[in-house]
Amino acid sequence: MARIVQKFGGTSVADLDRIRNVAGKVAAEAAAGHQVAVVVSAMAGETSRLVALCTEISSLFDAREYDAVVSAGEQVSSGLLAITLQAMGVQARSWLGWQIPVTTDDVHAKARILAIETATLRERLAGGEVAVVAGFQGVSSRGRITTLGRGGSDTSAVALAAALEADRCDIYTDVDGVYTSDPRIVARARKLGRITYEEMLEMASLGAKVLQTRSVELAMKERVRLQVLSSLAPEIGSDLPGTLVVDEDEIVEQEVVSGITASRDEAKLTLIGVEDQPGVAARIFGPLAEAAINVDMIVQNVSEDGKTTGITFTVTKADLARAQQILEGERESLRYRRLVTDKNVVKISVVGVGMRSHAGVAQRMFRALAEKSINIQVIATSEIKVSVLIAEDYTELALRALHTAYGLDG
Ligand code: ADP
Ligand code: ASP
Ligand code: MG
Repeated sequence: MARIVQKFGGTSVADLDRIRNVAGKVAAEAAAGHQVAVVVSAMAGETSRLVALCTEISSLFDAREYDAVVSAGEQVSSGLLAITLQAMGVQARSWLGWQIPVTTDDVHAKARILAIETATLRERLAGGEVAVVAGFQGVSSRGRITTLGRGGSDTSAVALAAALEADRCDIYTDVDGVYTSDPRIVARARKLGRITYEEMLEMASLGAKVLQTRSVELAMKERVRLQVLSSLAPEIGSDLPGTLVVDEDEIVEQEVVSGITASRDEAKLTLIGVEDQPGVAARIFGPLAEAAINVDMIVQNVSEDGKTTGITFTVTKADLARAQQILEGERESLRYRRLVTDKNVVKISVVGVGMRSHAGVAQRMFRALAEKSINIQVIATSEIKVSVLIAEDYTELALRALHTAYGLDG
């Protein structure tokens, strides 16, 4: 007998038929004698609808009230699933974040989980009751409802699995695993049977939204056995043909590149005519850091005249307006000639732990993009990834060309 956490995303609970389908999968695990805690997302589209209502009323909404509104979607889906299970004769009840409680910090709209109280849950699970937990939400020490950032139900599920010391955390979604690239864009993408935590972490943070980045971080840290599966496939059980997220030594034959991602959440800023002197970068990035704006890729051009240079960097699209405002406000002290911004960019990345032991990975990327006449604006590398910034219009073309260039086509 095992203790299992199952998580079902928005499309998996999109309507009552889908909820019945989910209930069937939950019931099957319970009938097999397992203890089952289920984490659900809001019904597809619901969270976006609630977010839009908040922003329509006021662009300067109170984040505490935003959380009160956008957490509502999971309240509905968890209740509906509990009702469905009960109607099937399965003992079940819904749990909201504050009822468990799932305690978080008070950084509203992107809160982090601090602790999950499990004593009562464990008792109920041991008594054969299925716990249907509303994902994406928690409660701060001040007693206010918090949410974990978009896609946060994945993190709810992994955190719950860690807190309950579950044997498995099964993430059910609308694709049957993690692919070499987003299967909705790259038709030849292949499903990966296994992927390392490290690669999954990079892929998630570089745009593969199949798992929220923090959920992978947590799974890696807490050694949660994580797998990604389709909620629409008929099979049930632990030997499902999804994707297992594992340690590096559990993968026998490692490919050089495991995945290719695109992140459209980037915006580019270029400061032209910046003095080429010690301390300039610190003066530019200091105020941005103080405003909690994360700077991602950075390049500084060589100075042609020895006096001035250009600095290009990226921030998230959401931070662009604030970054621009800050830099324009500091124009006197920064002494640059012009600030140019561009939202029409995408960050394309190739990821793979095999890169550590192979040369020429970046070169192959540059050549494949050159062959399609795609201009590279910024480059960034780390031990297991190479990222380039290109014009957003070329997203699909670049993903497909790279997928072929690295021999990943299925
Ligand atoms: P859920 O609502 O179940 O949480 P999401 O929409 O958040 O589902 O995540 C699943 C989606 O992630 C898929 O429909 C797919 O388009 C997208 N995706 C992006 N990159 C990948 C990838 N490398 N492998 C699988 N899915 C991916
Ligand atoms: N419902 C939330 C969202 O759409 C959380 C999730 O689906 O993981 O972002
Ligand atoms: Mg998701």
